[in-house]
Amino acid sequence: MRLSELQTGQKAYIVKVNGSGAFRKRILEMGFIRGEEVKSILNAPLKDPIKYEIMEYEVSLRRSEAVMIEISMLAGDARNDALHKEEALLEEVFASETEENNNGTETRASLQRHDRPHPEKRIRVALLGNPNSGKTTIFNLASGAHEHVGNYSGVTVDSKEGTLRHNGYEFTLIDLPGTYSLSAYTPEELFVRKHILDEKPDVIVNVVSASAAERNLYLTTELIDLKVPIVIALNMYDELEESGRTFDYETFGSLINIPMVPTVGKRGEGIPQLLEKVIDIYKQEEFDYVQIPYGRVLEKSIGIMEREFKNVEPTLYAGWNMPLRYICVKLLEGDRDVEKRVRTLPQQEQIFSRRDKERIYIEKLLREDPESAFTNARYGFIAGGLKETLTEKTQFSEKTKLLDALVTHKYIGFPLFFLFLWVMFEATFRLGNYPMEWIEWLVEQLGNLVRGNMQEGPLKALVVDGIIGGVGGVIVFLPNIVILYLFIAFMEDSGYMARAAFIMDKLMHRIGLHGKSFIPLIMGFGCNVPAIMATRTIESRSSRMITMFIVPFMSCSARLPVYILFVSAFVPKYGGLVMLGLYAFGILIAALTARILRKTAFKEEETPFVMELPPYRMPTTKSIITHMWDRSSQYLRKMGGPILIASIVIWFLGYFPQNAERDAAFDSEIAMVDAQYDRSEISDEEREEKTTEIEHLRNTTHQENSYIGNIGKFIEPAMRPLGFDWKISVSLLSGMAAKEIVISTMGVLYTGDSEDQQSLQHRLKAESYADGSPIFTPLVVAGFLLFVLIYFPCVASVVAIKEESHSWGWALFSVLYSTGLAWFIAFLVYQIGNLLI
Ligand code: GDP
Ligand code: MG
Repeated sequence: MRLSELQTGQKAYIVKVNGSGAFRKRILEMGFIRGEEVKSILNAPLKDPIKYEIMEYEVSLRRSEAVMIEISMLAGDARNDALHKEEALLEEVFASETEENNNGTETRASLQRHDRPHPEKRIRVALLGNPNSGKTTIFNLASGAHEHVGNYSGVTVDSKEGTLRHNGYEFTLIDLPGTYSLSAYTPEELFVRKHILDEKPDVIVNVVSASAAERNLYLTTELIDLKVPIVIALNMYDELEESGRTFDYETFGSLINIPMVPTVGKRGEGIPQLLEKVIDIYKQEEFDYVQIPYGRVLEKSIGIMEREFKNVEPTLYAGWNMPLRYICVKLLEGDRDVEKRVRTLPQQEQIFSRRDKERIYIEKLLREDPESAFTNARYGFIAGGLKETLTEKTQFSEKTKLLDALVTHKYIGFPLFFLFLWVMFEATFRLGNYPMEWIEWLVEQLGNLVRGNMQEGPLKALVVDGIIGGVGGVIVFLPNIVILYLFIAFMEDSGYMARAAFIMDKLMHRIGLHGKSFIPLIMGFGCNVPAIMATRTIESRSSRMITMFIVPFMSCSARLPVYILFVSAFVPKYGGLVMLGLYAFGILIAALTARILRKTAFKEEETPFVMELPPYRMPTTKSIITHMWDRSSQYLRKMGGPILIASIVIWFLGYFPQNAERDAAFDSEIAMVDAQYDRSEISDEEREEKTTEIEHLRNTTHQENSYIGNIGKFIEPAMRPLGFDWKISVSLLSGMAAKEIVISTMGVLYTGDSEDQQSLQHRLKAESYADGSPIFTPLVVAGFLLFVLIYFPCVASVVAIKEESHSWGWALFSVLYSTGLAWFIAFLVYQIGNLLI
């Protein structure tokens, strides 16, 4: 029987996982091993994927993947077999502990600690663990104010560092991406493994979620094999206690010879004790390492492989920093990274041929392939230890069950999700409006203040029009961005994001992606750059690449100011609706692009959809605020640097060259008007009117003849068919640095009445051609908004695409594709619109 045939609510036992490669490995590592109990909990609204409970946590699988897993409804042979194995393994551990004294077999190996790079009281500590085990929480809490922030998403994709002092020691904490194992299949796994091997942190803190200890400890078994100094943070201890279970972690810790410290990351409990243990381990000169017993058959093969290495000069692989036993185990497992390394050895041929023989042996004797055999043995080791120390779980959290029933409901699931998104955008737009007005007012006051108190001249123009006008135009959107991030932070921290991926999987599947891609896409609404980086969590390269290319069509918060400005100026009544429409259109383009790419450049099969669904957790105010602050400060920093520079450059291009002759001509015209007034030929009002007219003409002539005017005019012919004039063209051009700059440029270009600092909104609405017809007709506004939505992801995101795809070619492709498409769509809107209206 197949897992996919299991009815909702039924239980069964795993017999075997079919298939191959990354998918199979991941499934095994997630705990789908022989004899394990699995329960089908519920179907997504579109019947696919399906949520299963295994090893006390929840995971979602697609139907097409569940087909690959053979099950049996009877605990029968599968279960007994596995249990026997666990017991046998456990016996072996205890037996070997005594054996050690008798005949000296090396089950506990003693190892001299590697050279310490810092003889001072400085400890480098790497935080390692499964996704969602609480690494970042502990990191933030422990490193407090000293953190360097580089992490954006709920998904840590890069390492980030922070420092703290405790008991006279200086700790450097490194928050690593979450991984389920250290096999070399996903980029994160490779990253983490490389970090351990190459950076050699002094102590590794393995963060283990106590509420899913069995699966979390799998990673620990891999660390044990690497013989690195470890302390286990038994995090989420509160959840374990709430579920009414007890865990004799001291006994378990002594079994694996690793100190375990219970912690509650959320409340900071146990962190000082954890640091104490880290110091203890750091000070320790020698270590006793437990060896994971792999059972007689595998141990024999490992021994044979070790002997094979006798002929190899040890210095040749000493630089890998891997114990020989680890190398042999990984070779037998078929680990690609280790295979690659071994291929550089002169004896590689013998080693590989021996390895292949041993693999066949294992398969014959154990009736399962080496990968499963090793995974089973590791899980067996953990299960054996936990059986003695951890009491059985009674019930899955009612709260999670109830919420999931609602959130993933057949009929309610989607409406709820879209309602949430709608509330998010409404709040961003409406709520954000109030503080936005205050900031706008402040910027105006500041502008007028400076205007009134500075000497006429280029410097005044630079400060007022360049700096205050440019940066001020962008800073007013800070409240909107803070609100948007508040929502995203809440979604990520509560666990709802994973449910969104779960219910979206089937739809994402239609465009050739899977639910996991949905998370970077949603993040893209915040900022495309971290979103592009978050695509790293997608295992298959083709899906990763496609996701990366479509992320820029998600309206990032940098585009938000542009939308808000135009929406509040031209369609204030339907603000929320128009914005939602823009976001939706971006999504549509993304979907079409994904389909096209899947059919052409990236035809390869899709990734497995194996995703953990963490229990719902109420986010702490602190974590949400940190999250929000991280992102908002990122926005502010962007403004300090690039936007300020861009504003100044654009101001410069717009201010120069000055033309004294022309200025004099305008001055004399004004003088003439004044003279007329003095002679009482015209009234005060008439004088006012005429002067304004002349000033306006002066400004326009000046701008047209400035450098920027010339650049704008140069590209104008290409933009004319879209109804864009040269000012719009220049704004769009400058927006390539960052989309907010579109606005700051407009702030500089549309100077309006120079005597009074009006809001940009008014200035835009007043803008007209020489014949008095408005520049921003509804069609131009629509085309412009779409153009901003689609064209050229900012410089930073192009760099991110280059980094993630490792190719300038693909980055360039992304630029050309998006800009071309933007032009084409704005063209259609303007031309077809003109025909119809
Ligand atoms: P990471 O993926 O390992 O970095 O995990 P995070 O630090 O992002 O934490 C995942 C979730 O677990 C967040 O919602 C945290 O608020 C929550 N969390 C962290 N530590 C604890 C804890 O000790 N107890 C409980 N109940 N929740 C926690
Ligand atoms: Mg994290």
